[in-house]
Amino acid sequence: METAMTFEYAPAPESRAIVTIKPKYGHFIGGKFVAGSKHFPTINPATEEVLSQVALAGKAEVDAAVKAARKAYTTTWSKMSGKERGKYLYRIARIMQERAREFAVLETLDNGKPIRESRDTDIPLAAAHFFYHAGWADKLEYAGLGTSPKPLGVAGQIIPWNFPLLMLAWKVAPALATGNTVVLKPAESTPLTALLFAEVCQQAELPAGVVNIVTGDGSTGALIVNHPGIDKIAFTGSTEVGKIIARAVAPTKKSVTLELGGKAANIVFEDAAIDETVEGIVNGIFFNQGHVCCAGSRLLLQENVAEEVLHKLKNRMEKIRVGDPMDKNTDVGAINSKEQLTKIVELAAAGDSEGAERWSPACNLPAKGFWFAPTIFTGVTQAHRIAREEIFGPVLSVLTFRTPAEAIEKANNTPFGLSAGIWSEKGSRTLWASQQLRAGVVWADTFNKFDPTSPFGGYKESGWGREGGRHGLSAYLKGVSHE
Ligand code: NDP
Repeated sequence: METAMTFEYAPAPESRAIVTIKPKYGHFIGGKFVAGSKHFPTINPATEEVLSQVALAGKAEVDAAVKAARKAYTTTWSKMSGKERGKYLYRIARIMQERAREFAVLETLDNGKPIRESRDTDIPLAAAHFFYHAGWADKLEYAGLGTSPKPLGVAGQIIPWNFPLLMLAWKVAPALATGNTVVLKPAESTPLTALLFAEVCQQAELPAGVVNIVTGDGSTGALIVNHPGIDKIAFTGSTEVGKIIARAVAPTKKSVTLELGGKAANIVFEDAAIDETVEGIVNGIFFNQGHVCCAGSRLLLQENVAEEVLHKLKNRMEKIRVGDPMDKNTDVGAINSKEQLTKIVELAAAGDSEGAERWSPACNLPAKGFWFAPTIFTGVTQAHRIAREEIFGPVLSVLTFRTPAEAIEKANNTPFGLSAGIWSEKGSRTLWASQQLRAGVVWADTFNKFDPTSPFGGYKESGWGREGGRHGLSAYLKGVSHE
């Protein structure tokens, strides 16, 4: 008799001993930690354990941070040579590398993402953004952005919870390299790595006030957006809040960049290499629990390979390990908050009620914390809410098409335009499709690849402007086109 052989994974927990979380945090203003007045808890979404009490910045704290940033801008940072600014950025990058394990553990505790991702993706990429922009600091005249590019002044930066430290790096590194100073607000549910970054700024002896970090909720974000002492707003988050910000800054002289939502099409043509494609589909939607603005959340399959792809995809999904984010074997961790879980549950229920067919592999989800099993919906039509709205969770909507022209038509039938994926072995088809797609980033035979040299940003309701690369520098300089 033949017996099936199974290999069980032994637990492989990462130790949390490397991080010291204080019971209470204040704000980082003018190079110092200052006590907050009101506080709110930040929790570990995998266990619901309260990690710390974090300060909620009101008008007085935001005013103080903007004042400190202005002072640093006029007295120090805008006067310093690019070469000197670059040295600070290199120093920050190196300290982030030295303290990478600490950052990764803290990110996973506060966010719920698998340690494997925070360790191998978020933190190395965050450091890479500082290294890359350090290199630009003394070469701005050669970036093709004018012979004497000038900074904008004080930048107000508001970031989301899906890649806390990485989004901080996307915002802070280009701002500093171009000579601006910043007031940054991390998301309410993931403030801890930004506060550790404040310690790194101290360790790097960055001049006081160049980076200011105020923690809080949406009301703190609104105070930054509406502050008259701020010259530029950089925001990453929901399209809904992006629209509020666009309205708020419209009558002012503030510059603005918005990186908003997406509903990316991941298109599989009949000639694609199916096994590699299945890996790309899984990475496209289940990486970071699907909390990714550029996630490949709409899978478009050419009809004659749909059955084979779905069969292999389901087999692959059976092997996804969902659970303790601190375990080094975990593929999918916790949903970042109860609110986000509620949103995912509601949208998935809309998928059921509108007639799509739901499938998830069997998984044992932990009793405590916020969890959602990797899920696919087949039989999805373009009118379904799960094909139109950003779910921002591990939920994939599958549609089919017959001709390449139909694939493009369906892919572009969305108010968003952040990213797209193409799977095909024909170079000519890939080039043709990438030119038709109205998306800021198009990946071919891969997905979710990020690099500081590559500009990132959207069309339509996915946002304004670009971050990263030479294009991203222009968003922090005076009189340079942002596209
Ligand atoms: P938000 O857009 O509300 O949050 C992004 C940041 O903006 C946070 O720091 C938030 O503060 C802040 N903020 C909230 N309201 C305002 C305001 N009126 N003025 C200025 N800043 C504000 O996203 P949510 O966290 O509420 O997520 C909702 C949905 O947005 C998700 O389900 C997902 O679909 C999408 N999303 C998209 C992201 C992307 O990268 N494109 C990232 C995050 C979410 P705080 O969180 O502290 O209240």
